[in-house]
Amino acid sequence: MKKKMSKAEAKMEVDEFLRHIKFRDPEGVKKILRLANSHNIKLGDDRKLFCKKCLSPYKHPKIVIKNEFIRMTCEKCGHESRWRFKWSIKIKSHSEVEECC
Ligand SMILES: [Zn+2]
Repeated sequence: MKKKMSKAEAKMEVDEFLRHIKFRDPEGVKKILRLANSHNIKLGDDRKLFCKKCLSPYKHPKIVIKNEFIRMTCEKCGHESRWRFKWSIKIKSHSEVEECC
């Protein structure tokens, strides 16, 4: 019997994963992407927290901001990601752990 996760549960799992992304490995990223995909969960800006090529979470990426673009180079495979820079991007580097109930 396959355990079916509700979308809310899946989203919680994805959020939890992303909160500690720095301590994850590419295998974990792959798994969470599959989970997000199967539940139609959009990662949005959180996609920028890991390399889309080798799926390694960025730890010490080379970040270059030029004009309106931000460029991040993966320290693992050297793949360069580029996107339009906006201040709303939250790089969750300081593992803000929300305290709740
Ligand atoms: Zn990479």
